[in-house]
Amino acid sequence: MGTKKSQSLLREATKLIPGGVNSPVRAFSAVGSKPLFIKKASGARVTDADNNTYIDYVGSWGPMIVGHANPKVGAALKRAIDRGTSYGAPTESEITLAKMVIEAMPAMEMVRFVSSGTEATMSAIRLARGVTGRDRILKFEGCYHGHADSLLVKAGSGAATLGMPSSPGVPKSLAKETYNAIYNDLGSVEKIFKKDPKGISCIIVEGIPGNMGVVPPVEGFMKGLKKICKKYGALLIVDEVMSGFRLCYGGAHQTYDIVPDLVCLGKVIGGGLPVGAFGGRASIMKQLSPTGPVYQAGTLSGNPIAMTAGIETLKILAKRGQYKKLFKLTDALTSGIAEIAARRSVESCVVKRGSMFTLFFTAEPPQNFTEVCKADLKKFAKYFRRMLSHGIYIAPSAFEASFMSLAHTDKDIAKTLEAVDKSFTRL
Ligand SMILES: *Cc1c(COP(=O)(O)O)cnc(C)c1O
Repeated sequence: MGTKKSQSLLREATKLIPGGVNSPVRAFSAVGSKPLFIKKASGARVTDADNNTYIDYVGSWGPMIVGHANPKVGAALKRAIDRGTSYGAPTESEITLAKMVIEAMPAMEMVRFVSSGTEATMSAIRLARGVTGRDRILKFEGCYHGHADSLLVKAGSGAATLGMPSSPGVPKSLAKETYNAIYNDLGSVEKIFKKDPKGISCIIVEGIPGNMGVVPPVEGFMKGLKKICKKYGALLIVDEVMSGFRLCYGGAHQTYDIVPDLVCLGKVIGGGLPVGAFGGRASIMKQLSPTGPVYQAGTLSGNPIAMTAGIETLKILAKRGQYKKLFKLTDALTSGIAEIAARRSVESCVVKRGSMFTLFFTAEPPQNFTEVCKADLKKFAKYFRRMLSHGIYIAPSAFEASFMSLAHTDKDIAKTLEAVDKSFTRL
């Protein structure tokens, strides 16, 4: 597969944009490769600048659950654009999406829209700090919640991929306010709270961690977090930016039977446009400006085009049988990969929840970041490059999730499994 045009675009972009990319994991540096420049996408496929077409399991890192260039979403967007793209004033579309999100998530009585997942978690944390009057927060090693200062401490995703557990530029004084606990280890959480019972405003945790690869909570973990929060007067923020509307029409937290104090959303609810959201109990949400003292704002927040993409995406997902279809496709692919791995004796495990999954080159499914880090990265890089050469586009990092969409077909799965079989040969 030729990549001449992508390579020349990269040379040009690198002169203008650091690394030629506007988000670091796109650079393919963790897999010893060069990024492809994508010129178009449709359904489950992306096409690069050299006209190579790939079956896509990145889905823009999660949002494209109904497929690329979905005709229904596209038609609504075209109509919306003709009415103007931004007014800086409230619109009815914000009410429509707010209603849809709130109806899908009983933990949310009120919601506020922002323009990215980072903004959602950053604002939810400010709100938690504001209402509790406490400065410190607790997060988990390997969980990624966007790139806000307080959260870039032992974070996952690009921060894990690039081996930057933290980042220069994050003030030490701020990093000090962030505790890191071990995921799936309630004891590590309790220990921190015992040491600082009145200083922690909130626990923030991913609905299903996907930014160190898919690492689901063990039985009782999420309930345990809720209990600890209650005991110490801290709020529980479940970050569902990735997991929201991925496991069901709502949040992953609903599958654990817990009610978080605040929930963060992004990705799917924007259907490929920049949208984030955070919401929770009305008594907490009313502490936000203008009704309350906690300041939060955004020039393009609740943008009508972005709202339209979210509304149309959720409308499609709300139809009967959609999740069943997504899970069936995901099951077929993941069990197929596991079967090939066993046959070819490739030490690996596929972990899946709903329509997201990760192939780990580890002996056992990892339960925390330390275990994730035992994965064979060289093997992953080789696997990634081979899959790409066979026309399959997966995330260029061993620490990420893959995503199924409604546009994938049984034929795509069969083709992907053929590529896996070839890629696993003498891996
Ligand atoms: C992607 C992601 C974010 C950050 O969202 P951006 O839109 O990239 O700012 C936050 N939390 C989780 C769980 C995510 O997966």
